[in-house]
Amino acid sequence: MKSVFAVMTALARRTGALNLGQGFPDSDGPDFLLDAARRAIGEGLNQYPPVNGLPRLRQAISEQREAEYGLRYDPDSEIVVTMGATEAVAAALPALCDTGDEVIVFEPYYDAYGAAISLAGGVRRTVLLQRDGDRFVFDPDELRGAVTSRTRVILLNSPHNPTGKVFGLRELEQIAEVCREHDLIAVTDEVYEYLTYDGVRHITLASLPGMRERTLAISSAGKTFNVTGWKVGWACGPARLVDALVSVKQYLTFAGGGPFQAAVAEGLRNPRPWVDTLRDDLQGRRDTLLTGLAAAGIRTWTPEGTYFLQADAASFGHHDGEELCHVLAERAGVVLLPSTAFYDDEEAGRPLLRLAFCKRRQTLDTAVERLTAFALARPQETQA
Ligand SMILES: *Cc1c(COP(=O)(O)O)cnc(C)c1O
Repeated sequence: MKSVFAVMTALARRTGALNLGQGFPDSDGPDFLLDAARRAIGEGLNQYPPVNGLPRLRQAISEQREAEYGLRYDPDSEIVVTMGATEAVAAALPALCDTGDEVIVFEPYYDAYGAAISLAGGVRRTVLLQRDGDRFVFDPDELRGAVTSRTRVILLNSPHNPTGKVFGLRELEQIAEVCREHDLIAVTDEVYEYLTYDGVRHITLASLPGMRERTLAISSAGKTFNVTGWKVGWACGPARLVDALVSVKQYLTFAGGGPFQAAVAEGLRNPRPWVDTLRDDLQGRRDTLLTGLAAAGIRTWTPEGTYFLQADAASFGHHDGEELCHVLAERAGVVLLPSTAFYDDEEAGRPLLRLAFCKRRQTLDTAVERLTAFALARPQETQA
């Protein structure tokens, strides 16, 4: 079965439309990082790295977690390097779940989670992120109600794709309380840890009381350094959880990307100057889209992080985001992603569209012009 991502990308190619559907950046990573990877290849780092990753990268991850979050992880027993965050999630769930065990995810959720839970033989329980003013929020009672005797894992993504929500301290406390009370493991996808806006800070769930010992915290270099094709990710947690992940990972990919691991080790030693600039730049691009769409009367929800924002299909006079995305590709020359791709409850996602703003300003400006023209032309067309 083709994913909606593939369908929309094919549509962009066929129609020549601008593609704000797929979430990869269209500018490159920092020169020093690219140079470091070339150097590592030249130095002959081209055979299998250790299954848990190059020691220098595990060391750098350990230092980064301590500097950013005050959490200490032993580089030898509590950190594993993976083929992107995707492999970390795909190995963690089979490692932690038996057939029939339940995994709680907040809906909408990143599409790879559904597949990873299925591979694990797990059962997905969703907790809805509801639209509330300018935010997406969950009902703590719904979260409590989702826990059963079979619940094993809460899979949390913050900053959150596709809504751009950054879970706040109070919300994280509510999640942590449920984890502690029911002895659940938390798997946290933090790939956008540096990409938060308006002074909002990412808080890792593992930093809350009683959570470090029950959390596998996952991140990746892809979004932090604009190198999504490198697929260097990692997971940090107590040794028993990391060991379990490695026991699956060794038969998935074993290990890969040695030269890229070496480069990321250099990048993580001092990520701030580069990512601070990237973050400010992305915030500016987010604002370009938000302002432009607001001027055209298109309803959006302001993201506090990530590459993405949600817009309301109803602003274009459509109830169905999927249908609208096809119309926009053909008639407005812009490809967006229907948010139903991220929902089990298709009705909940039906009115929403995901727009990626990790694109060049010129691309965003043109997209706003085209969407504006389409939105403004609509009333006359309806009358005709
Ligand atoms: C992009 C993305 C990933 C994928 O990370 P990789 O390191 O490329 O595997 C994982 N989770 C979320 C929420 C993402 O948006």
